[in-house]
Amino acid sequence: MTSPEEGARQRDAADPGHRDLFHIPPAEGGDYAETAYLAGNSLGLQPRQTTVELARDLDAWATLGVEGHLDADRPWLPYHELLRDPAARLVGALPSETVVMNSLTVNLHLLMVSFYRPRGERTHILVEDTTFPSDSYAVRSQARFHGLDPDTAVIRTADVRKTIQEYGDRIALVLLGGVDYLTGELRDIAGITAAGQAAGAVVGWDMAHAVGNVPLRLHEWNVDFAAWCSYKYLNGGPGAVAGAFVHERHTGGDLPRFEGWWSTEPATRFEMAPVARPPDTADAWQLSNPPILAMSPVRTSLEIFDTVGMAALRERSVRLTGYLHGLLDALPLTVVTPRDPERRGSQLSLRVADAAGLTKVLRHRYGVIADAREPDVVRLAPVPLYSTYHDCWRAADALAREVDG
Ligand SMILES: *Cc1c(COP(=O)(O)O)cnc(C)c1O
Repeated sequence: MTSPEEGARQRDAADPGHRDLFHIPPAEGGDYAETAYLAGNSLGLQPRQTTVELARDLDAWATLGVEGHLDADRPWLPYHELLRDPAARLVGALPSETVVMNSLTVNLHLLMVSFYRPRGERTHILVEDTTFPSDSYAVRSQARFHGLDPDTAVIRTADVRKTIQEYGDRIALVLLGGVDYLTGELRDIAGITAAGQAAGAVVGWDMAHAVGNVPLRLHEWNVDFAAWCSYKYLNGGPGAVAGAFVHERHTGGDLPRFEGWWSTEPATRFEMAPVARPPDTADAWQLSNPPILAMSPVRTSLEIFDTVGMAALRERSVRLTGYLHGLLDALPLTVVTPRDPERRGSQLSLRVADAAGLTKVLRHRYGVIADAREPDVVRLAPVPLYSTYHDCWRAADALAREVDG
């Protein structure tokens, strides 16, 4: 008879991912040399190719100095354009709707400058009751910026559709996570977008936990705007350069925007003119010249997604996460993530007594890397690019030993 562990190994042989493309952190404790890394929803692992490509970009600086702006193999002036198409493919957008820039919360603010326009009675921002702190601080500070009281302007709700129905004529902006960072729930992005817009609101999405995790169709779903980070499922490295989406309906119009020299048409950039001539694309939301050394790892990572393809990744993700869910079903634990694969991505969230204590034990005794969200949620995310069935088995086996009884 095959042991459960042997069973996991057989599944890996039959359904391998792309683990060889990544550095897997070594384990400090437990019986295995490598960690069972299930925290790729928090910080994705480093592709092996990242250092090679980064060294090339550094080398251009060393050998060309300022001439690298135009003469590097990957010239710096238009460097961000190398990231645009692969990022657009990943979020289901037109290239003209997509730009890679800044970090996530910065992008949310820049987009809210354009899309949060409180007027008359329509002043409220609707967010989910589990809003990520940075998003909550961002919307509250935007309300204050417009002279409003954030305690009344920001509405937090557990039932987004019902609140849209009740308060629709007073909501200026709906801003939600595509995949909930805490529960792992994949929201009905198209349906909620349509409901919010029918009520007269602008609908924006934070795709931090959705991009690279589930297939997205931002253009087709008619999302007004979106932003995401590149260091979770995208493996772009700590603090990696983020992305932004502005629907075609809004590019090239007269929405207010903050501007800098990268907001103008590239052809006019060095005319040193006092007035910008913004392109009719999402590039108009850029401010500064691109951080080449920070963009290089994002470019490498996006290439991996292009090579492997989001559709194949999603299929393996459904199999891996379903397998882990089956193992967890046998344990005295509550999984708070929806069971239906259509309503979740990779992540499963467990409700436990002492999340921080448990993740420490998992790490130091078993080499299993999970993450804790205070006070009582442990998140496990098998990432289809590099996680294995054996990683899932190790996590479930460690949990069985620690939470039993
Ligand atoms: C990870 C995450 C952030 C992080 O914001 P940064 O600006 O990248 O530091 C913000 N919001 C959500 C929903 C996240 O998941």
